[in-house]
Amino acid sequence: MDSEIKRNIILDHYQNPRNKGLTGNKDYKTINMNNESCIDEVNLEIKVENGIIKDIKFDGEACAICTSSSSIMTDTLIGKTTEEAKKVLQNFLNMLDEKPYDKEILEEAIVYDDIHKQPNRKKCALLSWWGIEKLLNELEAQK
Ligand code: ZN
Repeated sequence: MDSEIKRNIILDHYQNPRNKGLTGNKDYKTINMNNESCIDEVNLEIKVENGIIKDIKFDGEACAICTSSSSIMTDTLIGKTTEEAKKVLQNFLNMLDEKPYDKEILEEAIVYDDIHKQPNRKKCALLSWWGIEKLLNELEAQK
C-alpha cells in the first residue's frame, strides 16, 4: 500500500474515529488499557454473542496512532467470530514484530505495516488490540 494512502486512512480514522464512546451497558465486557510510554489511556467494551463479536466500543485519551488503530481495530473485528478475531490479532502482532503475516486477513490494519520502524509508537498501535485479546481470553476462561 502506498504511504500516502496509508497516511490518509490513519488520518481519517483519527479525525472520525469509528465506534468511539462507551455504552456503559452491562452486556459488554470492559477493560482499561494504559500505555506508560505515551498519553494513551483507552477503555474498551466488547459484546460477544454465540461466539460472534457483535460490538466493540472504545473511549479515552490517546494519540493519533492509538486512536486510529483503535478505530480500525473495531471496524476490522466487529462481525467476526472470536476464532477469526484471534487469527487477525495474531497476524497483527506478527506484523508489528516483523514476522510473517497474512495481509488479506488484516484488511485496513495493514496501514501500520511499517510502524516497527518507530519502536516507541508500536505500543500505541498495539494497545487496543492487546486489550481485546485480553477480553477474548477472559471470556473464553469463563466458559
Ligand atoms: Zn500513543
